[in-house]
Amino acid sequence: EFDARQMVATAWEKSRMKERVSYGKRTSLSIEEQRKSLPVYKMRQKLVEAVYENQFLVIVGETGSGKTTQLTQYFDEEGLSKKGLIGCTQPRRVAAVSIAKRVAEEMGCEVGEEVGYTIRFEDETSSRTRIKYLTDGMLQREALLDPLMTQYSVILLDEAHERTVATDVLFALLKKAALKRPDLKVIVTSATLDSDKFSKYFMDCPIIEIPGKTFPVDVLYSSKPQMDYIESALDTTMDIHINEPEGDVLVFLTGQEEIDTCCEILYERVKALDGTIPELIILPVYSALPSEIQSRIFEPTPKGSRKVIFATNIAETSITIDGIYYVIDPGFSKINTYNPRIGMEQLLVSPISQAQANQRKGRAGRTGPGKCYRLYTESAFKNEMLPNTVPEIQRQNLEHTILMLKAMGINDLLNFEFMDPPPKSFMVSALEELFNLQALDEEGFLTTLGKRMSQFPMEPGLSKALLASVSNKCSDELLTIVAMLSIQNVFYRPKDKQQEADNRKARFHHPYGDHLTLLNVFNKWKESNYSKSFCTTNFLHERHLKRALDVRRQLLNIFKKMNLEVINCHGEVDCIRKTLVSGFFRNVAKRESQAGYKTLTDGTQVSISPGSSLFGKEYDYVLYHSIVLTSREYMMQVTAVEPRWLLESAPHFYKVADPNGSSRKKAKIVPLNDRFAQSKDSWRLSSIRANRDK
Ligand code: ADP
Ligand code: MG
Repeated sequence: EFDARQMVATAWEKSRMKERVSYGKRTSLSIEEQRKSLPVYKMRQKLVEAVYENQFLVIVGETGSGKTTQLTQYFDEEGLSKKGLIGCTQPRRVAAVSIAKRVAEEMGCEVGEEVGYTIRFEDETSSRTRIKYLTDGMLQREALLDPLMTQYSVILLDEAHERTVATDVLFALLKKAALKRPDLKVIVTSATLDSDKFSKYFMDCPIIEIPGKTFPVDVLYSSKPQMDYIESALDTTMDIHINEPEGDVLVFLTGQEEIDTCCEILYERVKALDGTIPELIILPVYSALPSEIQSRIFEPTPKGSRKVIFATNIAETSITIDGIYYVIDPGFSKINTYNPRIGMEQLLVSPISQAQANQRKGRAGRTGPGKCYRLYTESAFKNEMLPNTVPEIQRQNLEHTILMLKAMGINDLLNFEFMDPPPKSFMVSALEELFNLQALDEEGFLTTLGKRMSQFPMEPGLSKALLASVSNKCSDELLTIVAMLSIQNVFYRPKDKQQEADNRKARFHHPYGDHLTLLNVFNKWKESNYSKSFCTTNFLHERHLKRALDVRRQLLNIFKKMNLEVINCHGEVDCIRKTLVSGFFRNVAKRESQAGYKTLTDGTQVSISPGSSLFGKEYDYVLYHSIVLTSREYMMQVTAVEPRWLLESAPHFYKVADPNGSSRKKAKIVPLNDRFAQSKDSWRLSSIRANRDK
């Protein structure tokens, strides 16, 4: 069993025991001295004055200059937190948590006291909290209840250059709130130089630049395109380790699996080296990594050895690691992309932008002159990469965002002040889907159901299913299923024990499919009294299950607040399956042949994923949670359903194709487009234009 975490731990213990540990300059500084050594410190006075004098402010500074950890503390020290919280948003959950921990340490308190954080399904704040780090998604949710952000005196929209959907929406919401609340300060911080755009958007507000101390970085391009960037990243790492002078290496990869694999391969290769080569400490960094491991990346490298960090683009700007002299950039990242054809978001490995490439390069020049190895050609950089990353709002499914905006009373989406508006077709398709889910009425206004759905921080299909489960009397089960769907895969499949792991997994399989299988897993774990050994024996990720338990607890809180009943259906699996249909009737496929299925909505050819408990089974109609595109389009989390339920749960969406033709049993179910098509165009326009904003 390969376990990156175990390996990291061992590597660290080993290097410690050799007593070669001499801590670098950084850690010998006191926290006070460290804070004073950061580039923002010299600007403290200027920054504080600017905040007093301006309602909006843009602050630009190199990653690592101290924006995220220091600005909040400066404002707190100035007493700005007496009038309300100092909030600081982060696009990434991990960053919010790890930064809150760091700042708590600097302020000498526990997380949750003076400094806290809030991320989805996790709230570590208290009445004592003055500085609050939160994901941009959480602040957006808070705006739902409190559009004027009355709790806050200062809000920092950090990492604004990442241009997540939530940050983009917050730009507009905060601009609106600030105009009604002259005492609210809005500060936008960015690591790149797209600051003019931010300033222009916020009434031409001042831009303050924090001069960074950066060193030149040599860029080395690949002479020819690389076929396998993983292999070439590993080769380059070995090459650096053996031939280059001291200094740590940062390698950008696209995701957890890739990173774990690389750690594993490199570990084996390094083991094979002879004893004269210094030690190489291999560290993974990605969002799902537990924080105690993540904090290891900040520990200084023991003298005489070298550290290599394999990271996702989280290390581009959100997290700064000192001591990096070498950056290896394969030129890819995984981005969430909306595919309007199948109506699904997909995580696709895509080329990065020039701006990102330069940001990555910059990571090598923080401690001294560095080198950046680009595993692509100079011509690819110049001619194939886009200058800037496309804002997420222009490539994502907007269902959830639009539902929230509608719930805030913002109906006039066409005139909503997006910094870069999403394509109209994306808005229209999101509106259509929300209409199909009955969250919006024909004029595009929020229905009662839609209003209730907006209370849940999740995709509308899930919130609709949760609400339906109350009337279908199986909400106890649905809460578990939804919690299990919101975590990462719980099944663990080590390379050398795949068969054993598969056998164990099969014991949980429910004949009707994956949703009920997930319910089984959770319930059996609960019966074992949440035992660790149960997880180990059954090849389950305990950490993910614990997270599911946590998510479930938070969903229960929402249930309580909304006065919704938690009812157990005692094994009535049909009512659970029917309930899934009410949220996911759009995601149904019909079996066409031996080989595969076709989706009912648009006839896309899809297959049941080999990891599904329905793989190899021959049900006529199946419902899927999502589609993942690999070598073909695979349905993930699949459950068998009865076609008549489609008519029962979504009579506004489906009909029998030819009611008088073939026998009733063979009746074909097709989407009922007619009624919608007639009013479609007028509806589209009215719902976008409806100018009845409250
Ligand atoms: P910026 O937001 O400008 O990129 P930060 O405020 O995040 O900068 O970081 C400032 C400094 O604090 C960096 O040098 C970084 O190495 C250090 N730092 C940040 N988080 C931690 C942590 N968890 N442990 C140790 N040092 C940290
Ligand atoms: Mg930062």
